[in-house]
Amino acid sequence: MPTLFEKIIAREIPADIVYEDDRCIAFRDIAPKAPTHVLVVPKKALTSVDDVTAADAPLVGHLFVVAAHIAAQEGLTNGYRTVFNTGRDAGQTVDHLHLHVLGGRPLAWPPG
Ligand code: AMP
Repeated sequence: MPTLFEKIIAREIPADIVYEDDRCIAFRDIAPKAPTHVLVVPKKALTSVDDVTAADAPLVGHLFVVAAHIAAQEGLTNGYRTVFNTGRDAGQTVDHLHLHVLGGRPLAWPPG
């Protein structure tokens, strides 16, 4: 079964796409937790950080490069947070690796 995010990548489900290249896509979270909340999603269907191998290191690094690009594009000059939720205790709800980019307001630390 393709994941929800694979369906977005395939344009089978609509999304507000803010960036795309050959390795990843980024779109606005449907239930934003901050004024800017974008998900950076690799086109390779990795389940979570647990699924990442050394061979994926360049891809994961690329996700952070894209996150910084999006933060600049969104004008997040006061800072932003990048988060991978892994597994149920962390609140992962979509089993396709994704990097949250959150900003546009002060973000509490530690998270809940
Ligand atoms: P996580 O809880 O870390 O797995 O993050 C999954 C995120 O995907 C949540 O913040 C959801 O709000 C978001 N989400 C779920 N469905 C969609 C969708 N169709 N388009 C955009 N974001 C979505």
